[in-house]
Amino acid sequence: MPMKMETILAQAGSRWDERTGAISMPVYQTATFRHPALGQSTGFDYSRTSNPTRLALEETMAKLDSGSKAFAFASGLAAIDAIIHLFNSGDRIAISEGLYGGTLRLFEKGYGNFGVKVACIDATDIRAVKKAFEEGAKAILVESPTNPLLRIADIVAISKTAHEYGALAIVDNTFFTPVLQRPIELGADIVVYSASKYLSGHNDVVAGIAVAKTQELAEKIGFFQNAIGAVLGPQDSWLILRGLKTLSLRITAQQKNARFVAEWLKSHPRVNKVYYPGLDDVEVRALLDSQSSGAGAVISFEVDDAALVPEILKNVNIFIFAESLGGVESLVTFPAVQTHSDICAGERDRLGINDRLLRLSIGVEHVDDLIGDLKSVLGRN
Ligand SMILES: *Cc1c(COP(=O)(O)O)cnc(C)c1O
Repeated sequence: MPMKMETILAQAGSRWDERTGAISMPVYQTATFRHPALGQSTGFDYSRTSNPTRLALEETMAKLDSGSKAFAFASGLAAIDAIIHLFNSGDRIAISEGLYGGTLRLFEKGYGNFGVKVACIDATDIRAVKKAFEEGAKAILVESPTNPLLRIADIVAISKTAHEYGALAIVDNTFFTPVLQRPIELGADIVVYSASKYLSGHNDVVAGIAVAKTQELAEKIGFFQNAIGAVLGPQDSWLILRGLKTLSLRITAQQKNARFVAEWLKSHPRVNKVYYPGLDDVEVRALLDSQSSGAGAVISFEVDDAALVPEILKNVNIFIFAESLGGVESLVTFPAVQTHSDICAGERDRLGINDRLLRLSIGVEHVDDLIGDLKSVLGRN
């Protein structure tokens, strides 16, 4: 029987140190490693190439995501950067609307200069996905749920369509993590994470992970991880390993809170719209249930008046006004300014990322305090 997710998580890095039996993965704070003799290696030579603490994290992530190998980077964007290096000048890559703003910025302003072209498409529309491949896209990068409107894309259909055209399907799984969704098992070729979010879970480290399905892709990503060198340091690797141990517990608690908050918001007279896939229509929920085991803990909502936004951001007492998500502390973000100032041209309004939209990352506080805080800034309903 394959080991269950909770068991892999709880024991992340705990059986590595044969010499001392340390339960907590040691932090190998070393740049280089002594060679036993000429032509011999302990398996570790230099920490850009490989470091034991980072390797323990990478092996855990590969297992959690059913990949052949995983790679840890200094940030989520560094992981995405290594993946973009798989492509060549002139290649076109389709990306889903509502991608994290920094990813779009990297594609457009970073790789645009090198001739890599992006096509922004609505990845929740499989006809648009097909069209992008007909027009020659070599890969598609999607987030599901999308950010910040939490729309769900069909990962199975997207991966299948990509493969029909000999292209790669890449999924940014930051919002759901392997606890709720495992894109490689759904057909994707590469999974990428900002580990700064749920995988870390404590808003205390910036990190990224890329997981490759095949050995061939793993070799290429591993080459660029070493060649570019934006690797995750040993101390930060340890922090992510430490975070992983409680990932399933945290997400379960955060998601439970999120459902209550989303329902409360939905019934509030000053809230026009609530974006939370767990409350979506039957069709979206059926798709969600077919590929994920939950709806996550990020909620976006639109208030009825833009003038209310600065008041909310100033007066919240439990929610913290800060960008990011996924930690045990609940955060509130203003996407139009904070995370989505870079967006597919002219699309912010059409996509609903307007000056009345706020995004909540629900933490593990008591739900009564979270709702009480929202009551104090929105008024009772
Ligand atoms: C935060 C985030 C990123 C970028 O990751 P960093 O760790 O901040 O570099 C990429 N994708 C998504 C979905 C994110 O939320």
